[in-house]
Amino acid sequence: MKISIVTPFFNESESIQFYFERLVSVLESLGHAYEIVCVDDGSEDGTFEILVSYKVRFPQLKCIKFSRNFGKEAALTCGLHHATGDVVIPMDCDLQDPPELLESMIEEWKKGFMVVNAKRSDRDEGLMKSVSARFFYKLINKLSDSNIPENVGDFRLMDKRVVQAVNQLKEKTRFMKGILSWPGFKTATITYSRPSRMHGKPKQNYLKLFALAFDGIVSFSDMPLKVIVGTGFAITFFSFLYLIFIVLRPFFMEIDVAGYSSTIAIILFLGGMNMLSIGVVGIFISKIFNESKNRPIYVVETEVI
Ligand code: UDP
Ligand code: MG
Repeated sequence: MKISIVTPFFNESESIQFYFERLVSVLESLGHAYEIVCVDDGSEDGTFEILVSYKVRFPQLKCIKFSRNFGKEAALTCGLHHATGDVVIPMDCDLQDPPELLESMIEEWKKGFMVVNAKRSDRDEGLMKSVSARFFYKLINKLSDSNIPENVGDFRLMDKRVVQAVNQLKEKTRFMKGILSWPGFKTATITYSRPSRMHGKPKQNYLKLFALAFDGIVSFSDMPLKVIVGTGFAITFFSFLYLIFIVLRPFFMEIDVAGYSSTIAIILFLGGMNMLSIGVVGIFISKIFNESKNRPIYVVETEVI
């Protein structure tokens, strides 16, 4: 049996040493064969050189360098393409995904579970992040058809058959939490409390995370389009009733001509609704446009394997 760890690195020169020391000592204690697939996502602080230099000490390292920063999702995708183990575990290099959990994950796998999710029971990451993450998982699960487990990040154990299925998903918008959950399979869940980042600064800023959440919603749900249709339908229906009322009104009561401001208000409201709806449709079209360009998800500059 062989374990593959897949880790993206982006300007992580401060974290690498601590990460490998803790991870390798856990892996050695497990006593299985292993490899660590390291994907350098276009770092500019010598991360790749440090990774390659560690290969002397840890020959189980596979180092892959991107030609530029393609984002964590692309780096994970690349790592999964290169992983050859019987079980594959994506892991951040900031030790927020504790390597010590590997043992219980593998235990669950041995019981026959194809996926072992690591669920965060609480996180030591600040109120803002906890609240926004919570809101996001609630929202996406309301909206999307596939079941994205709440508070489960990319950190999970997958059997190689799950990874094969994941690798068949060729979409260019890589929302990995959704993509990794898509194949399904028999799933176990273990819980842990997520520590904060050990070394260095977070590399995913709020803007990136927001864009990711947005991608997730748009690529795993057509709910925004349904909302537009629903609202459009409701407005049309009530305007029609109102129209009948206006047409018939002169027969029953006196007409008053005043009504300038209500007319403007309705025009503005409908104008806004139109623009918003076209915008949402536009977003979906731009996704289709991106997919149809069929560009590669990442470009590899160097591989040291
Ligand atoms: N990362 C990456 N590319 C990026 C941003 C981040 O490969 O553009 C990697 C980073 O090196 C780390 C992991 O993704 O291993 C998680 O990053 P971070 O800790 O900043 O994110 P968070 O824990 O806030 O999700
Ligand atoms: Mg982190």
